[in-house]
Amino acid sequence: MPAGEPVVLYDTDGPVATITMNRPEVANAQNSELIDALDAAFDEAEQDEAVRVVILAARGRHFSSGHDLKALVGEAEPDHWRKMRDTPEGLFRHEEVMYVGRCRRIHDFPKPTIAAVQGKCIAAGLMLACMCDLIIASDDATLSNPVLRMSGAGVELLVEPWELGVRKAKEFLLAACELDAEEARRLGLVNRVVPRDELMAEAMRLARRIAEVPPVTARVVKASINHAAALMGKQLSWDYHFMAHQWTHNTDTARRMRAERERMGSMREVIAARDRGDQA
Ligand code: ZN
Repeated sequence: MPAGEPVVLYDTDGPVATITMNRPEVANAQNSELIDALDAAFDEAEQDEAVRVVILAARGRHFSSGHDLKALVGEAEPDHWRKMRDTPEGLFRHEEVMYVGRCRRIHDFPKPTIAAVQGKCIAAGLMLACMCDLIIASDDATLSNPVLRMSGAGVELLVEPWELGVRKAKEFLLAACELDAEEARRLGLVNRVVPRDELMAEAMRLARRIAEVPPVTARVVKASINHAAALMGKQLSWDYHFMAHQWTHNTDTARRMRAERERMGSMREVIAARDRGDQA
């Protein structure tokens, strides 16, 4: 991406707004700038009365590799959010505002949303896609959340039981399984699977179809379905998980892994050494 290009693109085509993550050079890893830009794009789509449906897409080979670990714990110049993470209180606040708040805003967005997912969709990338009402995946998409292997209690919102059912969610998280698009469709996590070069056209077709529903009706029915999930405990289970997730961030195990990452240079190395049995 040339310097100065926005990290999120915003386009409208009739009643459909397309919000596109634009950090393809890092597989659309989510740093603070990207998360803020996504939120601003959703503001714009919310305020524009001509917009009836939103597509959330990503440029490049991959939808999103998750939170930008380089920005969070790695070499990048720390922003004010990262500096806050030095204390458990600051870490909580950062994730509450930037991860949970921003994601739940998309989940509760007053207009229907469609995620168009290609390539890798990992951890917080999956959390983000799951905030949308529908997910269209290209046939090369893979969905995974391997964070438990790095000691983290998944990501901040536990989407898996809602998307996969309880038993499959346990396998997916504990064994860090990767789902291909077709299996994700079979399990109900993904609505449709299309060839890679038809992804955006299919998302647009579906968006235009949904845009024919009067906005107030779409809004009411979306909210009513979300309400049904809320009555099944979705929001309360998310509140619980976020607390558990925070606690796990501050365990001795997690602290030691962060220190190891600093020493060895990458989490991949730390995990590889751990899995070989090099350390306790
Ligand atoms: Zn976290």
